[in-house]
Amino acid sequence: MLLDQIYARIFHYSNQNKRMFVSTSLQTHSIPLLHLLKESKRPITYLFINTGFHFPETLIFKKEIETLLDITIEDVVSAIPKSQQKDEQGNFYFSSDPSYCCTLNKTQPLEPYLINYDVWINGVRAGQSAARKMMDIEQKTPFNAKRFHPILDWTAKDIYEYRMKHNLPEHPLDSKGYQSIGCAPCTRKFDANDERSARWFGMNKTECGLHTDLISK
Ligand code: SF4
Repeated sequence: MLLDQIYARIFHYSNQNKRMFVSTSLQTHSIPLLHLLKESKRPITYLFINTGFHFPETLIFKKEIETLLDITIEDVVSAIPKSQQKDEQGNFYFSSDPSYCCTLNKTQPLEPYLINYDVWINGVRAGQSAARKMMDIEQKTPFNAKRFHPILDWTAKDIYEYRMKHNLPEHPLDSKGYQSIGCAPCTRKFDANDERSARWFGMNKTECGLHTDLISK
């Protein structure tokens, strides 16, 4: 979508008194969406799903972005304490059952927002994976909120140009060889064209469930 189209859709939701939230992974390519939403000057709740397993650099970057954009990004955390997130061998589920770990720490904690809000804005892009290529600009969730993917058709070049135009910073791990940055245990450096392949390496898993489980089929 062009910027004018994105703003028109945001204003439309706002005029209809739709309650909106955006979730962000706080990666470099996530920042333009936060910036343009802030520029809309509409009431939008900013969320970060804080699994407790993120790199310290991500948490530092979060504060930097909050200051830069003058926004507050709320942490969404699991109600299940980490002491109850271990398998029978005493290992965290991310090593033995990462899908369950993602459910506990990512999809379940977001559900109350999907129940209480009307629009979930998120920055998935079609070029990121085969699953995302199949998405639409708007999609239903299993709950009240609908999904809105304003930058679904943006390319890496579009993201880069927006960042340069608005002088937006990059995640501190970008310069250390990371392409896709999530939880530390499930992220590794990788040098390939598929930016999602650096996540859950060797685990036959490419999505955490936010963009698969929380879409109505
Ligand atoms: Fe757990 Fe890894 Fe999913 Fe993070 S990405 S919630 S550590 S399995």
